[in-house]
Amino acid sequence: MQEITIRTQQHCQFINIDAQVQSAVDAARIQNGICCIFVPHTTAGITINENADPDVVRDIIATLDKLVPWHGNYAHTEGNSAAHVKASMLGFCQTVLVREGKLALGTWQSIYFCEFDGPRTRKIWITVIPAP
Ligand code: ZN
Repeated sequence: MQEITIRTQQHCQFINIDAQVQSAVDAARIQNGICCIFVPHTTAGITINENADPDVVRDIIATLDKLVPWHGNYAHTEGNSAAHVKASMLGFCQTVLVREGKLALGTWQSIYFCEFDGPRTRKIWITVIPAP
């Protein structure tokens, strides 16, 4: 398993981690297989979506904010329930195929680390498994 550390700058922020994940695939020296990317946090998640128009990420963040407002009738006393809910909505793990040593993402796809209670220092765990 490999570990990436990233520092987020904003309260809510999506960070493209394609390059870091590809580096982990490179280090594993496999041609074909799967790459599992896991976020070991409860107020940050991971998703795959469009990298061409930055408005897509802006719209996702704005829509999540509308669906899960920061201030609400939450029970969790830490005060960051919205971040926990958003993280669970997007999930904590993505799996991407590896083909000829490269992440097999669609033309417009990128992998995004999704911060919902930043800024913080965050970890991402990556395991690359060769195809049998
Ligand atoms: Zn909390």
